[in-house]
Amino acid sequence: MAFDFSFSEEVEQVRGVAKSICDKLAPQREKLIKDIHVHRKFPHALWDAAAEAGFLGCLISEKYGGNEMGMLPLAVAVEEMAVNGYGNAFFVVTNMDASCIAMNGSEAVKQKYLPKIASGACKMAFAVTEPDAGSNTFRITTYAKDVGDHFELKGQKTFITGVDESDAILVVARTKSLDEVKALGQPKTFGLSIFVVDSKSPGIELSLIPTHGIEGMNQFTIHFDQVKVPKENLVGELDMGTMALFTSLNPERILAAAAACGMTQFCLNRASRYANERVVFGGKPIGSYQALAHPLAESCIDLEAARLLLYKACWNYDSKKSPFDVGSSANYAKFFAAEMAIRAVDRAIETHGGYGFSEEYELVWLWTSARLLRTAPISREMILNYVSEHNLGLPRSY
Ligand SMILES: Cc1cc2nc3c(=O)[nH]c(=O)nc-3n(C[C@H](O)[C@H](O)[C@H](O)COP(=O)(O)OP(=O)(O)OC[C@H]3O[C@@H](n4cnc5c(N)ncnc54)[C@H](O)[C@@H]3O)c2cc1C
Repeated sequence: MAFDFSFSEEVEQVRGVAKSICDKLAPQREKLIKDIHVHRKFPHALWDAAAEAGFLGCLISEKYGGNEMGMLPLAVAVEEMAVNGYGNAFFVVTNMDASCIAMNGSEAVKQKYLPKIASGACKMAFAVTEPDAGSNTFRITTYAKDVGDHFELKGQKTFITGVDESDAILVVARTKSLDEVKALGQPKTFGLSIFVVDSKSPGIELSLIPTHGIEGMNQFTIHFDQVKVPKENLVGELDMGTMALFTSLNPERILAAAAACGMTQFCLNRASRYANERVVFGGKPIGSYQALAHPLAESCIDLEAARLLLYKACWNYDSKKSPFDVGSSANYAKFFAAEMAIRAVDRAIETHGGYGFSEEYELVWLWTSARLLRTAPISREMILNYVSEHNLGLPRSY
């Protein structure tokens, strides 16, 4: 048979475990949700339960304490938690970092970090964005200088999620400046390197950026002032970090799509329930009005399409398809799922009328979360640029 759309028993079990984690949190749900959305407190109870279930070891081999289940079960776990109203960006970020270390790290760096990540003892942030570089990663100026027995990191990263809660940060830095790269006659993709940096290292300072969009976590500008990074914390080859970078960015896009699918299902569940119960005219529930029902039906069809894109991207990743195949499918999945989630939240709020804005229904908080997915982890424009250039062969405009 060419296609089989059924999930394996293992994947179904993972979905069941993710659901039972959410069910167990039900007695404390009201406080937990408020802590996450209003007080922006990190959901330790959710993190600990996910770690205990092995969800942080899916992309890590058994040799380093993981379970090697792969991207599909992980995406299903992320999706199921979001179906139950729990966003989990830090879980996404730590897993994307784990993927990068597992695929590119030296034996020393793998031994040092992967077992701690798999057990949940090491939360990781990811830092590429800089104030003056933004979407143009090759323009970053944070510099790691080789000073003999270690590297010295200097520069600034911005919008870094959850770094205050993190134990380590995967940092993308230049080890050759753009000028040095030019002088060597190399392309601008050359001279980037990736490091694991201990979040408590002397020389690191954080400034809070009041931001919305990611549940239970804050964003910071990180200032690195001559931060000492051990030589063994280099991930992948010196100056050749560009390809390695995508082994974390693709998983991030796939897992962002999974979160968007779960968020959409959450919205549809809430909206359908409310539309069946709410009566305002003539004894019929508002769900009988096609003006409300059809947009929800469209979101239902959207969700089926988004899930197919998502699971194909997972399959490409797990089957170790080419970077082009994994990258393309991760981009398609993230793009479609983000746009879908924005529409779904809007439609669920519309279905709830004024109650859509009440905290009780938990929808209004998802407004910024869904909208953020259009802009981050990669903006819709940069995905469309990628698709235009790499999938359609069109000339680059920038
Ligand atoms: C809540 C939040 C959390 C974040 N967490 C992290 C994190 O943990 N780690 C991290 O490294 N970063 C993080 N980011 C940064 C995020 O990835 C960037 O904000 C995003 O990639 C866009 O970069 P920018 O904000 O600099 O926008 P810019 O690059 O300045 O772009 C501005 C606008 O111009 C468009 N644009 C730019 N260039 C082009 C082009 N060539 N063609 C068409 N349009 C273009 C963009 O799509 C965008 O709409 C986070 C951001 C937010 C808001």
